[in-house]
Amino acid sequence: MRLILKPERDKSIRHRHPWVFSGAVARRSGPVSPGETVDIIGHDGIWLARGTASTHSQMIARLWTWNPDEEIDAALIQSRLERAIAGRAALAADPNTTAYRLVFSESDGLPGVIVDRYGDWLAIQLLTQGAVAHTGTIVTALAANLDIRGIYERSDVEIRAREGLPPAEGLLWGEPPPAELAIRENGYEFTLDLAGGQKTGWYLDQRTNRARVASYAAGADVLGVFSYTGGFEVLAAGAGAKSVTAVDSSATALRGVEAHMRRNNLHTDYTPVEGDAFTVLRNLREQGRQYDVVILDPPKFAHSQRQIDRATRGYKDINMQAFHLLRPGGILATFSCSGLISADLFQKVIYGAALDAGRDAQIIETVSQASDHPVLLTFPEAAYLKGLICRVW
Ligand code: SAH
Repeated sequence: MRLILKPERDKSIRHRHPWVFSGAVARRSGPVSPGETVDIIGHDGIWLARGTASTHSQMIARLWTWNPDEEIDAALIQSRLERAIAGRAALAADPNTTAYRLVFSESDGLPGVIVDRYGDWLAIQLLTQGAVAHTGTIVTALAANLDIRGIYERSDVEIRAREGLPPAEGLLWGEPPPAELAIRENGYEFTLDLAGGQKTGWYLDQRTNRARVASYAAGADVLGVFSYTGGFEVLAAGAGAKSVTAVDSSATALRGVEAHMRRNNLHTDYTPVEGDAFTVLRNLREQGRQYDVVILDPPKFAHSQRQIDRATRGYKDINMQAFHLLRPGGILATFSCSGLISADLFQKVIYGAALDAGRDAQIIETVSQASDHPVLLTFPEAAYLKGLICRVW
């Protein structure tokens, strides 16, 4: 199958950007079927790249190779996997961390494929028709290259709908994971439920940031907002926080924080607050509460271009509340995982929040997603997580 581009629409592909939109295509050599291999041909007839087709999305193809001799087959998948594994060798050798992202989609040359390692199990997400078409080969390669006990699919995410794919979940290879799968991260032990938890059960992208934030926690009253099961809060407690308050709308998540505190023998004064963060932050302010460290790690607020304005208002609101709750000299660790909100825009939002709260704030660290979520230089869209650690006066 060949897709022939319109005139002048080859530039991004020559620059190795991995997405082809249907608007750039002049004609097809025939009908396209889901996930099939497509060759991208310039208007001048020159072969440019090879990818997989999506029949349901505006993004008609995702590119896997710019080498005409390379097919999208077991050999290509094997070589991409070898690179991905080699890139995580230091993490794999670190006994203090047994959970990390092994394959990060386009950034690792496997569009639509996300593989997370949790101890002896892998969680896999197949997010595009092309990824789904190669499921068998990918699973076989993972099982052959890694010393693992099972591979569990967690493709039960909304973005699959954009590809016309139904949610999918279940064991693809080996033994089912235990309901309480134990992992280590930064030297602490956590458990997750691979088959039943939120997302894939653990937010790996924040691993290094959890350690950075914990470095400010000794002796501090810490407020962790959007805590989930306590990645940040447990590390803060371990670093000697005086007290930890965790806020989440999920009671299950908050029970997880408590379980993780116990599991790591942490006896820090711990208060869970179940509720909507927007309301809880206001209530805490009305009660006159003050903290030395506030962590804001909200879920993705902007899922589409249309939602950017609303999302920035949301970020501004919670950050303004956080500024009000900080003692002078305190630390705000604030994050956004919305890829559509740029680092620049995010910084402007935090600046607006500080102005409105009447507080001076200095950025002392600018952080992003952990190294196992690499950003391919030709694919800057892979950068989605940004964070600012600020000293607030
Ligand atoms: N900080 C966590 C990850 C946070 S994920 C970690 O490091 O592991 C986002 C969390 O926000 C989820 O646990 C979700 O339950 C919670 N959440 C989503 N909307 C919320 C809201 N409006 N108020 C409070 N919590 C919310």
